[in-house]
Amino acid sequence: MRRLSAVLVSLLICGSAIANDPPAKPIKQASAKEDAPDKEDSKSSSKETKSSKSSKDKEAKSAEAARAKESMAADELAVKIAERLSVLRKEKDDAAKMAPRPVVRSYAPPVRRPDHAEVKPKAAAADGHAANAAALAGASAHSAIHWSYEGEGGPLSWGKLNPSYAACDNGQRQSPIDIRDGIHVDLDPLSFDYKPSRFSVIDNGHTIQVNMGAGNYINVSGKNYELLQFHFHKPSEERVNGKSFEMVVHLVHKGGDGKLAVVAVLIERGKAQALVQSVWNNLPLEKNESVQALSTMDLNQLLPTKREYYTYMGSLTTPPCSEGVLWLVMKENIEISPEQLAIFNRLYPMNARPIQKTAGRLIKESN
Ligand SMILES: [Zn+2]
Repeated sequence: MRRLSAVLVSLLICGSAIANDPPAKPIKQASAKEDAPDKEDSKSSSKETKSSKSSKDKEAKSAEAARAKESMAADELAVKIAERLSVLRKEKDDAAKMAPRPVVRSYAPPVRRPDHAEVKPKAAAADGHAANAAALAGASAHSAIHWSYEGEGGPLSWGKLNPSYAACDNGQRQSPIDIRDGIHVDLDPLSFDYKPSRFSVIDNGHTIQVNMGAGNYINVSGKNYELLQFHFHKPSEERVNGKSFEMVVHLVHKGGDGKLAVVAVLIERGKAQALVQSVWNNLPLEKNESVQALSTMDLNQLLPTKREYYTYMGSLTTPPCSEGVLWLVMKENIEISPEQLAIFNRLYPMNARPIQKTAGRLIKESN
């Protein structure tokens, strides 16, 4: 009995060390075998009490027979376990041969996934979170037409494409506007606290947008707004006294209370602009694929020298056309070269929302 147990224990230890599989089978097999000898033991002991009167020879013989039987059983068991172990070893060897492939497979995708994971939120941010959430929620109830600047999804349809775009139709303080008849006052100086920052460029399907690293601020009337991103429209969306410009850049800032302040810098044809060139240099080859620039960008280079501006309350000029946006339109424009204009023109020859009603809104301008 001891020998049997010793064989079992040593083989099982061996077996579980060899096989990484759950050792359910060996244990089950072994425990079944372990049970059996116990019963045998109890049987033989009861036989012994019954036949206690028998001769000692007979007793000795039966004990010897039992030992022989036990020995045979142990040998049989050892053979079975050895067979089982060889099966387990083979399985393990096979698994080891197979192992490299799953490892490679599971390693490869994570290298690519972060790109996609990173792009999606950015693309969503570009279109506006509210708009995307609503589009997802009401996808079946609404047309699959995506908003655009012409055709079925053009500006006159924006308000009907999605309930969350209703302000595009019903809003009373929409942008852009023709800036005229402003009141001349001593406006608080607009102070820019821009510093060289990391940036990434994305073509979001509506414009070229540059997402900026943290730490760039403007201060208007004592309130700080942090720069999130800037993007371009061609031609300029806003007009000044009826005049349209070649392009405009919108610098979108967000206050601590979530309110937006957009600085518009009007662009005319003229000399090449270094900062615009560095944006064009980093243009992504694919839409909605963000390109992280290796260099930094100092947005002070994009600002006109003079800091006078027009200001009024308006809205986002793209769906969902949310209102409550503080507009700050610089009076002095900047220049970019005809070649730089041509590059944007190839991507977006027209991405400007039409002029909206001023509807009696107050427009202020620096003296
Ligand atoms: Zn814009």
